[in-house]
Amino acid sequence: MNVKEEIMETHPCPKCAAPMDEGLLSITGSSNLGYVSKKQTGMLKAQTRISQAHACLSCGYVELYLNPQELKSKIS
Ligand SMILES: [Zn+2]
Repeated sequence: MNVKEEIMETHPCPKCAAPMDEGLLSITGSSNLGYVSKKQTGMLKAQTRISQAHACLSCGYVELYLNPQELKSKIS
């Protein structure tokens, strides 16, 4: 299957299937949160920016999304 990945605006919560709110993860003092894979073994561990987040308005579950192509380019 080659399904184009799209994050829908009405993304259902994987825990309780309630509609999720869309936003960004924000940390005081830093504009972006990054992800660093354990496969990144070099001295310079460049972060992959977490560009999107979803929060469940029912149970509080938070999902984070980064750019998978960007992460793969850092691992390989
Ligand atoms: Zn939920």
